[in-house]
Amino acid sequence: MKVLKFGGTSVGSIENIRKVTNIIVDGEKKIVVLSAMSGTTNALVNIAEKCENNFQTEAQRYINKLHNNYKSVIDELFEKSELNQKVSNYVATIFSDLNKATSEVYSELLYNKIVAQGELLSTYIFTNYLVQQGINAHLLPALDFMRIDKLNEPDNFYIQQNLQRIVKETLPADIYITQGFICLDAYGNITNLQRGGSDYTATIIGAAIKADEVEIWTDIDGMHNNDPRFVENTKAISNLSYEEAAELAYFGARILHPQTVMPARQENIPVRLKHTMRPERLGTLINNKVTDNGIKAIAAKDGITAIKIKSARMLLAYGFLKKVFEIFEKYETPIDMITTSEIAVSLTIDKVAFLDAIIEELEKFSTVEVDQNQSIICLVGHSIVNHPKTHKLFNVLQDFSIRMISYGGSDNNISLLVNTKDKIKALKNLNAYVFEKSLIA
Ligand code: ASP
Ligand code: MG
Repeated sequence: MKVLKFGGTSVGSIENIRKVTNIIVDGEKKIVVLSAMSGTTNALVNIAEKCENNFQTEAQRYINKLHNNYKSVIDELFEKSELNQKVSNYVATIFSDLNKATSEVYSELLYNKIVAQGELLSTYIFTNYLVQQGINAHLLPALDFMRIDKLNEPDNFYIQQNLQRIVKETLPADIYITQGFICLDAYGNITNLQRGGSDYTATIIGAAIKADEVEIWTDIDGMHNNDPRFVENTKAISNLSYEEAAELAYFGARILHPQTVMPARQENIPVRLKHTMRPERLGTLINNKVTDNGIKAIAAKDGITAIKIKSARMLLAYGFLKKVFEIFEKYETPIDMITTSEIAVSLTIDKVAFLDAIIEELEKFSTVEVDQNQSIICLVGHSIVNHPKTHKLFNVLQDFSIRMISYGGSDNNISLLVNTKDKIKALKNLNAYVFEKSLIA
């Protein structure tokens, strides 16, 4: 069985909902994971923030506006019928609960409940739309089987057992629909897999049912060899290994939630990225096959802070890095890049919640310099560190200053740290040096 996931834009308009229907109805049984309709989760985050700040009237205004959007979606998708009434009533209950939430005491749990409504809406509407079209579709409520543990990792055993049980208990269907993104935490409270988490839901389910393939359907024809928002003429990459895809997803390729590849890789399940509006395109296939083609893709991740830690005591001393790392560990702050010299170490983080406390502790034994607004540019490809053409990327050194370079940490990744204001130029020039013959002026 396959698992297919459709993102917000794929279910974001009547036209696209019809396209998705054509894609999934092919006579094969499948599980379909849906995101919220595009714009909905952002709107819900906004509503939750209004609640947090006690702007009750404003929150209610947003809620009513969103409800009106859904009313028109329902009227366009459903004929005047009992089903239309049933769906309208369900949607009305969700919006009336949201209205009630505006007078509740704000908490993280309330926030999580509010942002979960988007996926509940999209899956309910879509399942009933399929039923109206005469398709044997059933809803599998994600909150009955998706759970994360105390470390925020998927509770795979629980998920597998419960998903199997629910599928057995539900009437046989051709298409099972479920919500992406939302889940329960280890205490049974509603939570989620972080923004963009529906991709992750799809591979977690894929691993749980040992799916033949997981397909992620979105609004681009696969993972591109550079960031299409900033660089022209980027191309979809036809094949990536799990490792390459994971590096790219982590370092900024926005098409995939960073953790998506992990469950698929563990169970060796191929992941295919496809374009809902252009289903004839091949897309990107991610699996365990490795091809030695040099640099395959470039991606950038913003919001990076670089920290330089200098100490004369580092000279010829051991145990210095241990001391540094212990501080980051204490504040649960992951380090992305790291470079060292004999008297200093530079590293980068993207979580800055405890930056002040970290600096205070580092300053007890070193001088600290902090550079904000940095971007990591990451180049990925199997064994690129050993590829004869890789050196071309270093032409970029003549164009502007590079704050850090990480080379050889893994064979498949080279990372450069630049000031974010130079990012677009860096992406364009690297594209020219690495993928094109002539340099863009
Ligand atoms: N709806 C959620 C979000 O906007 C999850 C997802 O789309 O994957 O982040
Ligand atoms: Mg997404």
